[in-house]
Amino acid sequence: MLIDKVEKTKLAALAKPQPGRSIRPGTDKVHKANFPSRYIPREVEREVWQRDGGQCAFVALNELRCRERAFLEFHHVKPYARMGRATVANISLRCRRHNQYEAELVFGPRNLGRVAERSEPPGVFESQ
Ligand SMILES: [Zn+2]
Repeated sequence: MLIDKVEKTKLAALAKPQPGRSIRPGTDKVHKANFPSRYIPREVEREVWQRDGGQCAFVALNELRCRERAFLEFHHVKPYARMGRATVANISLRCRRHNQYEAELVFGPRNLGRVAERSEPPGVFESQ
């Protein structure tokens, strides 16, 4: 009989799925309205590209700058997820590896096993 009751309760719960509720009602809209756009305007991209010389702008602790010129990405210096805006001041060129590396510094590693083996930032460097 107990099993019967439990089954009925479970089935009832499945039959009536709860509508997606906000964890903090009233905050969702405010959050969205204040969030900056992820879109980087063409003018900003062009200016950043010229300023950084079409080269990854990552500078290591030993002050050597990355030499990578291929597969460059527009990096938010202050992360987009932390309200970083798509302005020339906040956008910088990064190669794929350094964009990933800096994202891991902020958000934590994607792949703990792989990153744990890494003792220094990846990349090829040259003196300024
Ligand atoms: Zn780089």
